[in-house]
Amino acid sequence: MALIVHKYGGTSMGSTERIRNVAKRVAKWARAGHQMVVVPSAMSGETNRLLGLAKEVQPSQVTPESQRELDMIACTGEQVSVGLLALALQAEGMPAVSYTGWQVPIKTDSAYTKARIESIDDERVRADLDAGKVVIITGFQGIDGQGHLTTLGRGGSDTSAVAVAAALKADECLIYTDVDGVYTTDPRVVPEARRLHTVSFEEMLEMASLGSKVLQIRSVEFAGKYRVPLRVLSSFTPWDINIEEEARSGTLITFEEDEKMEKAVVSGIAFNRDEAKVTVQGVPDKPGIAFQILGPVAQANIDVDMIIQNVSRDGKTDFSFTVPRNDHARVLDLLRSSVAPSVGAAVVDGDARISKVSIVGVGMKSHVGVAAKMFRTLSDEGINIQMISTSEIKTSVVIDEKYMELAVRALHRAFELDQESQPA
Ligand code: ASP
Ligand code: MG
Repeated sequence: MALIVHKYGGTSMGSTERIRNVAKRVAKWARAGHQMVVVPSAMSGETNRLLGLAKEVQPSQVTPESQRELDMIACTGEQVSVGLLALALQAEGMPAVSYTGWQVPIKTDSAYTKARIESIDDERVRADLDAGKVVIITGFQGIDGQGHLTTLGRGGSDTSAVAVAAALKADECLIYTDVDGVYTTDPRVVPEARRLHTVSFEEMLEMASLGSKVLQIRSVEFAGKYRVPLRVLSSFTPWDINIEEEARSGTLITFEEDEKMEKAVVSGIAFNRDEAKVTVQGVPDKPGIAFQILGPVAQANIDVDMIIQNVSRDGKTDFSFTVPRNDHARVLDLLRSSVAPSVGAAVVDGDARISKVSIVGVGMKSHVGVAAKMFRTLSDEGINIQMISTSEIKTSVVIDEKYMELAVRALHRAFELDQESQPA
């Protein structure tokens, strides 16, 4: 007997028929002798609908008071889905009980709309499990120290499921979704993309942060911190598929890398269209300049990703960095109005038509020449690289967005990602 956490995304919970299907699948696992905890999302489209209503009533919701109400509203989507799933399980003859985040309780900080989980009390859940019930807990929500409802940010049910699995020391957390695992790249861009049987936790973290939307990044961080065995798999297989086969399907996120390091050097190609570039030209090359430029940007709560500073000519240099595209106009404004004049920069330039393309793989740690191969591949396609950044397990480049798909396809081919390299 094992303790297993299942998480079902919005599409898997998208209709009463699908919810009945989820109930049948969960009941199958429970009948196989496992203790089952289920963390579902709201039914698909529901959170958007709820937040849409909120926007109609109050278009700009920036005060802490209004953010509190957003969470109050958004929380209800998951409350409905856990109740429906409990009813569906009971209808299957399987004892089941549902709880909201505050009933467990799942305690968070008070950062409305993007709260972080601080602790989870497992007592109530364990008592129900020991009494033979399936326990269903709302994803996405919690309660802060003052008793206010909070939510964990869009896609936060993944994080709820992993956190619940960590708190209960579950044997595995299965994330059921509308894709059947993690791919070498987005199959919509490269039809030859392959599903990975395993991916290391570090690689998954990079891929999630680089724009692959299979898991909320915070859930991957959580899984890494508490070493929660995590698997991403499809909820669209027939519910009565053989349970052993099901338990081996999808993509397993592993913590053992030694074996993999010998094999594929690059595991995946990630890309991100959501960034924009800023260049401050003609900056005096002297101590404190990076801080004078980036300090105010950080203070405006804007994330900076890649940064480059050139060597200077005649005591002047250019300084470039990337920011989320949504914040681009705000950053240009900030730099042009106050920062550039005070540091004595000549020009501030912006370009939103860029994409970031990255190769990711733990094997890069032990192989040389991987980045060079990436650059050669892009050069063979005549693609100009505007910025480069590297870490132990990834190399990222910024290129013109119109070459993004070409670059991804060429790299996928160059690193032979369409060829099976892992045993099933
Ligand atoms: N229902 C929430 C959302 O749509 C949380 C989730 O689905 O993970 O963002
Ligand atoms: Mg999701």
